[in-house]
Amino acid sequence: MKIIGAGMAGLLAANLLRHRNPTVVEKSPTCPNNHRAILRFSSPLVGEALRIPFREVTLVKSALAWKNPVADILAYSEKIGGKIVTDRSISRLNIEVSKRWIAPPDLIAQMAMNVGDLRLGVSHDFTVPGPKVLSTIPMPDLARALDYPMPEFPYRHGYVVSAFVEQDTDAYATLYVPNPAIPFYRASITGAELTVETLTEPHYPEALAEEAAELLGVRIARPSVSVKPQAYLKIFPIDNAIRKKFIHEVSSERGIAFSLGRFATWRPGLVTEHLLNDIRLIDGWISEGEGSRYAMEIHDAEKKRSA
Ligand SMILES: Cc1cc2nc3c(=O)[nH]c(=O)nc-3n(C[C@H](O)[C@H](O)[C@H](O)COP(=O)(O)OP(=O)(O)OC[C@H]3O[C@@H](n4cnc5c(N)ncnc54)[C@H](O)[C@@H]3O)c2cc1C
Repeated sequence: MKIIGAGMAGLLAANLLRHRNPTVVEKSPTCPNNHRAILRFSSPLVGEALRIPFREVTLVKSALAWKNPVADILAYSEKIGGKIVTDRSISRLNIEVSKRWIAPPDLIAQMAMNVGDLRLGVSHDFTVPGPKVLSTIPMPDLARALDYPMPEFPYRHGYVVSAFVEQDTDAYATLYVPNPAIPFYRASITGAELTVETLTEPHYPEALAEEAAELLGVRIARPSVSVKPQAYLKIFPIDNAIRKKFIHEVSSERGIAFSLGRFATWRPGLVTEHLLNDIRLIDGWISEGEGSRYAMEIHDAEKKRSA
């Protein structure tokens, strides 16, 4: 079977569906590695499924107080979504201590190595008729490729600024930043790496990383600062019925693709753990399809025999 996209969703599917001899096609010349910034998971399940050991760590999360808890919730929602709402994760935060599972830094490389047939720099054309594929490309891109009318997808483009902490560090922490005057909304430490997420282009990334480090009370090793643009840093829900109709049309009506992934199924709340179940479901549907194809072949053969 053919898997389109070698991001987290495509590589995970290729690893778990090895019995289907997948070919993975990725339009970028390298695996995009979007998840690299924070390879932390809310359970050990992904590591167990891949048979790659993840390390259990303690994560601390909090929000940087600005005016008062209500004003901070409103400001944070406006900062990340451009609209004042009350359902953002910061509303739950005072200080939260929880467990997380950390993948090895070369997780993507390890997953890519397990794929027998990985074709980088190859773009799949969804308009050319062919066997049904497993698509992880973002829903807006697929809708555009198929000329399918969809309402506007609400999302924010952004940047991830990374740097290494100068001190000897093995810490796991996230600080949410509602203050609109501070140019980033989240700063995290994963091991010894600082990750800063911002929705505006950082013209002075080192200064941004230093401001985040200062808030977290650490120092950064200056030459280590890097910037990675993210096409979909924040995505926001669309009408669920329209979303599901598109997925159904592409999969069942037109037989073009199964959709898999946060962007491909446009589910802002989807985390990597959810993909495990989605991959199992798709595997089952492929088997059912094969079952019915087999039944059709027998039926055709019997018809020919009796003719
Ligand atoms: C800083 C940060 C922290 C995060 N933390 C977490 C976290 O803690 N937990 C979590 O679960 N998630 C987290 N995420 C989100 C997670 O990284 C994304 O959900 C995930 O990377 C999306 O992977 P994907 O494979 O679904 O999509 P993508 O990575 O977008 O992969 C789709 C691929 O399809 C390719 N493509 C598109 N069109 C074509 C075509 N026509 N032919 C071939 N290839 C094509 C694209 O080039 C792309 O590589 C975080 C993200 C960031 C930025």
